[in-house]
Amino acid sequence: MLTPDVIKGSAALVYEISETKKPFALKLEMDKGLIAQGKDLSSAIFVRELQKKHNSKSFSLLGNDCFGFDQALKKIEETEKTISYLIEIPTLVKESSLPCIHCLGTGWDKSLDQECLWCHGKKKHTEYNWKPFFAISASLQIFCFLAETSNRTRISDKCQLLTFQNFCGDSINGFPLFGSYGYDFCKWLNSFSDHYCFETVREKMAKTYEHIFKQKKDWWHFNTYVEENAWLIINCPGDASGLHPVGYGWDQNKHQGQQYSCHNLDSPIQQLMLLTALAVLSDSARKSINKK
Ligand SMILES: [Zn+2]
Repeated sequence: MLTPDVIKGSAALVYEISETKKPFALKLEMDKGLIAQGKDLSSAIFVRELQKKHNSKSFSLLGNDCFGFDQALKKIEETEKTISYLIEIPTLVKESSLPCIHCLGTGWDKSLDQECLWCHGKKKHTEYNWKPFFAISASLQIFCFLAETSNRTRISDKCQLLTFQNFCGDSINGFPLFGSYGYDFCKWLNSFSDHYCFETVREKMAKTYEHIFKQKKDWWHFNTYVEENAWLIINCPGDASGLHPVGYGWDQNKHQGQQYSCHNLDSPIQQLMLLTALAVLSDSARKSINKK
């Protein structure tokens, strides 16, 4: 299993999530060894169950031009040893030409005497398209299963900075995201002063939120900071939702990584917001490690 090895110390790189030049997209690069491992997935019961649960039209295997449910991940690069997929972050909100059915196109809620909460005063009916978010989350669940059970494949001499695992459920708390931060990643986190805020992460998450919902949220919803001993907190909009380390006391001298877990993740959008944060942090850590 990949995650326990990363927690124990360092494991060879199997996959990496990172930013791309394309706005509102993440890159998932992986060892091509995973393709052979996933060749029988189409008939796996848990894949078929996920497909049924989220009413997906199709499932495509790793190695194809698209991977996952309803072509959620698109191939962008292939080398002798690696293959990379793009995760494009969809928009949830689509404004229609019809008037808002709650305020009848006035933009004002007469009973509450305030701006209509449904259309935010825009007067138009709003449609919500959750389907692509479920497709991405469910596809990543399959990918994480493959990566976690991978045979020690290796992209290069690089180490696995962090891992993530998710579930694509259908209810409150049904969308957990958890995993591990490797020793090198924790060491990088530990190089920052106490309560260091990662402004770049916060900005990226805030812009991603605006892209998804077509509206802004206050900065503190996306607060991402590190305390003493690599204690990393990543927040995202929700009910005290975000990521936090499991247990206290990461110790640089022990040469180990640490597990992280989540609190109150109720939607696939929160998973994507937090993966965006992890991608930004992973890129920064990788750049810093490469310089040394
Ligand atoms: Zn309205």
